[in-house]
Amino acid sequence: MIIKTFPMGLIGTNAYLLIDEISKEAAVIDIGGDFAEVSEEIEKSKANLKYILNTHGHFDHILGEKDVQEATGLPVYVHEADKYLVENLPEQLKRFGFVNNVLPPENIKTFTEKDIFKLGNEEIKVIHTPGHTPGSSCFLVGKNLFSGDTLFHASIGRTDFEGGSFAQISNSIKEKLFKLDDDIDVYPGHDSKTTIGYEKQYNCYFGSKIIQQ
Ligand SMILES: [Zn+2]
Ligand SMILES: [Zn+2]
Repeated sequence: MIIKTFPMGLIGTNAYLLIDEISKEAAVIDIGGDFAEVSEEIEKSKANLKYILNTHGHFDHILGEKDVQEATGLPVYVHEADKYLVENLPEQLKRFGFVNNVLPPENIKTFTEKDIFKLGNEEIKVIHTPGHTPGSSCFLVGKNLFSGDTLFHASIGRTDFEGGSFAQISNSIKEKLFKLDDDIDVYPGHDSKTTIGYEKQYNCYFGSKIIQQ
């Protein structure tokens, strides 16, 4: 699997492009800004975009998706518990103080825990990890985890927004993500990459070497 990272949008969200080398089928995750650069990369790689996926429904992860839809005609996928957030994009922008008048994407489809998206023979598995938002989800692709705003390098996503819950994010990380193999690379929604093994030890909230001190 080819994985490319594109920091973009109003607050530096990581968008990801996944391309299966054999079938050339591709998926994008969290297009939170200008789609042009990702689109160029898809063309250059002679890939076919198959899925527009979202780790959750916050504005900074979906802002560019109307443009992706206009270019491709594809639906947007989000966990069923975050569909309302995608539909409420204009209200979200207002609440966060942006005057940007972007319309929400149309044709919103939902997924649930354990749904699988296929790129050729490769699988994108959904892990529902509520806490940052009710529908926050991670995508596991082989040894790569796309963690959205649930797990960051040495940190976790905020839980003080509407629908957030510290108890839920704690459960999602400890009972689901920390049960994954140590050598899994973690691609978060903001900032730099990490691994499950590093976070199990050094995460500022749940790392075993941090909370013992
Ligand atoms: Zn978020
Ligand atoms: Zn975010």
